[in-house]
Amino acid sequence: MREAREAWLEATEHNPGNASSPHQIGGRANAALKEAREKLAHFLDCQPADIVWTSGATEANNMVMHHFARTLDPAKRDEVWVSAIEHPCVHESAKHYFGKRARLIPVTHDGVIDLDWLTAELADMRPGLVGIMAANNETGVIQPWREALAICRQYKVPFFSDAVQWLGKMPARGLGECDYLSGAAHKFGGPRGVGFLKVPHKSQVTPLLLGGKQEQGRRAGTENVPIILSMLAALEAREKQLARCEHILRGVWRENFERQLLKNLSGTVVVGANSPRLWNTVSALMPEGVQLRWLTKLDKAGFAVSTGSACTTGKEEPSHVLAAMNFKTAEAHRVLRFSSGWETTEANWHALADALAKVHAEVHPAKT
Ligand code: PLP
Repeated sequence: MREAREAWLEATEHNPGNASSPHQIGGRANAALKEAREKLAHFLDCQPADIVWTSGATEANNMVMHHFARTLDPAKRDEVWVSAIEHPCVHESAKHYFGKRARLIPVTHDGVIDLDWLTAELADMRPGLVGIMAANNETGVIQPWREALAICRQYKVPFFSDAVQWLGKMPARGLGECDYLSGAAHKFGGPRGVGFLKVPHKSQVTPLLLGGKQEQGRRAGTENVPIILSMLAALEAREKQLARCEHILRGVWRENFERQLLKNLSGTVVVGANSPRLWNTVSALMPEGVQLRWLTKLDKAGFAVSTGSACTTGKEEPSHVLAAMNFKTAEAHRVLRFSSGWETTEANWHALADALAKVHAEVHPAKT
């Protein structure tokens, strides 16, 4: 994104200091970081001091699990509950630190976390933490994080949300109310390798990386000022587009694409169709098995799409997200995922629908 690139170049050329250095050059870097923290806090609706810069969401999410592993009492069998559709960096770190004390919050067939389950279970016992992502990366299904947060507040259980897929696609306002919140710049037009963790106000978080006293002792290591400024430039630009409601029209294009797909390829089912979804994501259960030939042909036509499993041989594990939504393994192998960016045009969506119909006719000639 232009704004992100320009901010990075400007900072790299004109603000080369180490934000922890005592001299004027360091002071300028520190001031720029302070301003970036204030901007992010403004977008999220939290305090600047609540933000810890990280190398991305994987680190931020690991930090949360590590922090709770250090603070919860295994003797009391304190648990953490995370949704069954979280990104692997949440599942793996929860499993690593908590083993059987990490429980999965179920989701419905439409890909939404089961709030009834949460309410019923909380009435019985209190976990040390509940983690529910803001929107899912595979299906685009928007999660009721506000409702889940309110329920957790009622039971005084800390609430954590991975907002990687939400940020830059939906307005950030209000997300800062979550006790812990993670984000990653590359999902909204910023550089890779930078993100943040928002922590509760005036709370200490057990550092995952030990060393210097950067980030108020919460994350050691020299801050990469240019990429942090670049991340904020990207988010600022996205927030402006969101304020102008530019995402609404993009949602209409996505819906038109889905209609075209369902019409052209009968038997196709849109995953999570009954749930609110991000405007950029379509996960579709195709009428036929999705083979490598499909992907190669689509790739040649200029469309980089993903599947519902780790590979397309039909022997690999289906995605844990589709499995949690109760899709059978054979169905998961028929799933294709499409995601657009802010630059994707209506014509691009039409071209994709046409390419899919063409590829389907070539690969399964008798069925069209
Ligand atoms: N959480 C979600 C929902 C994601 O989609 C991703 C990456 O795609 C991550 C976490 C990990 O982010 P990163 O690779 O920036 O560490």
